[in-house]
Amino acid sequence: MRVPERNDRDAQEVIKAGYTLICPVCNHDRFWSRKTQMNTRGATFFNLDWLNKNATNYICNRCSYIFWFLES
Ligand SMILES: [Zn+2]
Repeated sequence: MRVPERNDRDAQEVIKAGYTLICPVCNHDRFWSRKTQMNTRGATFFNLDWLNKNATNYICNRCSYIFWFLES
């Protein structure tokens, strides 16, 4: 998976479920986000429908650690 270039202007604090997102690797608290479609060919055949969802990625602006959040 190609990681897009960093853009400091887009990095921001992220609140999830009332908690501030903190990178577990470097303790940073600024992330940039992107949407990722998780549609996977063959997922339905293998009864993996939960994969056919959209996800939101939050990528640490310091170390590029990636958080994944499934959209319900
Ligand atoms: Zn980090």
